[in-house]
Amino acid sequence: MEFNHASKKIPNSSTHSITMSAITITVEQKTTRLDGASTSTRACIRVPTGPQPPAPSNAFIRCKCGHVTVEFTAKKAKVALECCCVDCFAKNEYYAGLGGPQLPPRFANRELPLVLNYWDNCLKVTGKDKLAFTKIREGCASTNAIASCCNTVMFIDHPAYAGNGVMTFNTIVPAQNAEECKARLRVYTADYPADRLAKLPELPNAWKDPATGAFTGTGDWPTEFGAWAETMKGMSSSDGESFSDLMAAAGGFTVLGLPEGDESCTKQYTASA
Ligand SMILES: [Zn+2]
Ligand SMILES: [Zn+2]
Repeated sequence: MEFNHASKKIPNSSTHSITMSAITITVEQKTTRLDGASTSTRACIRVPTGPQPPAPSNAFIRCKCGHVTVEFTAKKAKVALECCCVDCFAKNEYYAGLGGPQLPPRFANRELPLVLNYWDNCLKVTGKDKLAFTKIREGCASTNAIASCCNTVMFIDHPAYAGNGVMTFNTIVPAQNAEECKARLRVYTADYPADRLAKLPELPNAWKDPATGAFTGTGDWPTEFGAWAETMKGMSSSDGESFSDLMAAAGGFTVLGLPEGDESCTKQYTASA
């Protein structure tokens, strides 16, 4: 068992007092099998010690290790969507593979689409020294803010938000101190396995027709799509730090170069054309 000081601060004074906000304990367990081979597993536990930062008064998300906290402007997201697109799954699976938060099994197995929450683009961030920005491939519209300390996908920007809002993956990094915002529209459903889609609860569906590039859908999708767009237009970026402020401070984004998933309806259409 080893102890590491997660953060220590030595103020510039003659008393040399040391304050710690947490210690991290690493526990290693070695198991020896009957055939003599041994395996070991490690677990890290973060134990708060000193005075903790005050709890945010609005909804917030925190990265897996606790270093990065992002507070929003309200307790409830402004709007929510369910998303079936290959890229939302791909980026979360990529970072989960690097040790980030795992997708809950029913989502990993494509039994349920991911729930996206949208918030004002006015962010109060602690631990922003660990924020890094990525796109999953060249030309991708979305830009991802990642907590690089633990590979947590924190929040997303997309040109369709026009700088007014940011999106979070509430399924994987749930907002804390928050009221639930229910999705009224499911998008990019053409990327989702058809047999799984048929089993999902009833909700208007919308997807981009790869032949025309225009959205189409089922149920009253135009009303719900319009409501989402109106809400995005009314969101604010006037206080706090915006996505672009934070990305500029971090020195821009890097491109991961992940391939587009085979379930992508656009990819399938292009291959068959
Ligand atoms: Zn972290
Ligand atoms: Zn998506």
